[in-house]
Amino acid sequence: MATPITAKALLEALDKEGVKVDEVRNWREHNRNQQGPWGPVHGIMIHHTVTSGAKETVDLVYDGRSDLPGPLAHGCITKDGTVHLTGHGRANHAGTGDGDVLRAVIAERSTPDPNEQDTDGNTHFYGFECENLGDGDDPWPDEQIDAIVRASAALCRHHGWNARSVIGHLEWTNQKTDPRGFTMDALRKKITERLK
Ligand SMILES: [Zn+2]
Repeated sequence: MATPITAKALLEALDKEGVKVDEVRNWREHNRNQQGPWGPVHGIMIHHTVTSGAKETVDLVYDGRSDLPGPLAHGCITKDGTVHLTGHGRANHAGTGDGDVLRAVIAERSTPDPNEQDTDGNTHFYGFECENLGDGDDPWPDEQIDAIVRASAALCRHHGWNARSVIGHLEWTNQKTDPRGFTMDALRKKITERLK
């Protein structure tokens, strides 16, 4: 059972991890808490945005879309390796997924293939939306991957989690394919290295 990190502690944790941070507008008060609970938090979810262009991508993650209000994540990680903080509290990123996966994340064991939509992920996961077209061809620059690793490690370190607490959206639900272009196992290996 983990209480969500405070905005202040998040900034300190990201700074300690060497993350380049951009605080977007009123991110500390920007959330969907009126829609449901936020916490206890159990893990971190990685996404791709299917967009290109840093400004458009950050604005989309902050504002959301007509059918899905923002914030769409806690942070938007652009190709230059900046972590733009876009919300603090409940965010519309994870949707529903498989409770068996959540139980595996809590136990920090490898997750089963998702096959149910029975659990609200927005309550339990931090989310990072990462600027990428998600077509399998759009490259993931080293700076961006490094920022994903560092931002994830910052939250893992704060909560005493290991890299098993970091999953991709595609590991949460069989309705999604993100992130595409690298494997979550490769990303978790880098996070494990970073946490040593
Ligand atoms: Zn996603």
